Amino acid sequence: MYRHYLSKVLEWLLVNKDKPFEYTHHSVLLVGTVLFFYAAVVNYHLGLASTFTVIALLALSFLIFLVWYLSRWRNQFKLMSVAFLGLITLVAIPINWMGNGGSNGPTFFVALGLLIYISGSFKNIGLYRRVGQLFCLMAPIPLIMLENAHPELVFHYTTDSLKQIDLTITFIIIGLFLIIMVESLSTRFKLEREKATQLSEKLKTLSEQDSLTGLYNRRKLDEQYTSWKQQGRIFSLALLDIDHFKNVNDQWGHNYGDKVLQSVADLLIKVAKKNHGLAIRFGGEEFILFLPISLDEVYKATTQTAQSLSEIPFKHASVTFSAGISQDKTEDSQDELLKRADNLMYQAKSNGRNCILK
Ligand code: GH3
Ligand code: MG
Ligand code: MG
Repeated sequence: MYRHYLSKVLEWLLVNKDKPFEYTHHSVLLVGTVLFFYAAVVNYHLGLASTFTVIALLALSFLIFLVWYLSRWRNQFKLMSVAFLGLITLVAIPINWMGNGGSNGPTFFVALGLLIYISGSFKNIGLYRRVGQLFCLMAPIPLIMLENAHPELVFHYTTDSLKQIDLTITFIIIGLFLIIMVESLSTRFKLEREKATQLSEKLKTLSEQDSLTGLYNRRKLDEQYTSWKQQGRIFSLALLDIDHFKNVNDQWGHNYGDKVLQSVADLLIKVAKKNHGLAIRFGGEEFILFLPISLDEVYKATTQTAQSLSEIPFKHASVTFSAGISQDKTEDSQDELLKRADNLMYQAKSNGRNCILK
């Protein structure tokens, strides 16, 4: 309940979590707004900075809030990202530097925090991320030069303890910010990895399945054959071919024929599941039961399948098949196993169909 409302509020403030860059960026903008506001209040209260700096910090807080508003509610994510980069690198860091003790103050921490944010969580928009990184990285150099040339521009701490307080507070804030950054980054990587795994599993299933019946295809047969052969398992194969299926198509139409194939497939899936094996669509109206059991057991299962199939009330007539069954021999290849079943199946057709041979 409480979590539900919290996620609703966060979505309203930040955007849907499906957009991780926007989500993180908006949270950084809001945290930035609060931090700069807080910095202005603390600096004013403790007399840590000049009035000019306090006003500048307040203005920055407002501008960052405006950037959030335009990005979140006026659909200007890209433009506002660039504006944000400009604000922090060209305005926030220099103000912080000049207003908070220069090279003796906490701006190094701030620049480091921003550098890590831009590097890890800032969506790359053209060259802007690189430019932002470069500015953050190089920012201290011109500022130190300016500080040396015009020491009067830098607000110096009146006591050592004020400096220590300012450094410590900023260190803790930036430290917390870094923790959040690193954790949100690792969550995002985890999510992306999970998505990729799901996608590749889906693709694998699709590449192994026949689209009409949902049965496995030959590729899966090859894979399972190799695996069982390597494990030294006993396994057998029944090759089934529906009798006079062309007539069904010719008389009742292709769509009806498809439905018949689907019903046969559903039945085969049940048989395969029961026997911990695979049901495969081998060709148009040819199927394979590939089961980790002996020849006689597969013969029995196939006979039962023929019986069950004959009991399904199709509107044209009952469906029968002819089948050949072979069991793997140690010296066998997959082709030989299939060939034996195929020969028996053709023999079953010659015998007048609706017949299973082993
Ligand atoms: P037999 O008893 O000798 O096996 O006769 P048959 O008519 O079943 O065999 P044949 O090989 O002459 O014809 C197979 C038919 O299966 C022809 C083809 O139109 C049909 N078929 C193959 N794939 C599909 C399919 O995906 N959907 C439908 N509806 N029919 C298919
Ligand atoms: Mg056929
Ligand atoms: Mg046939």
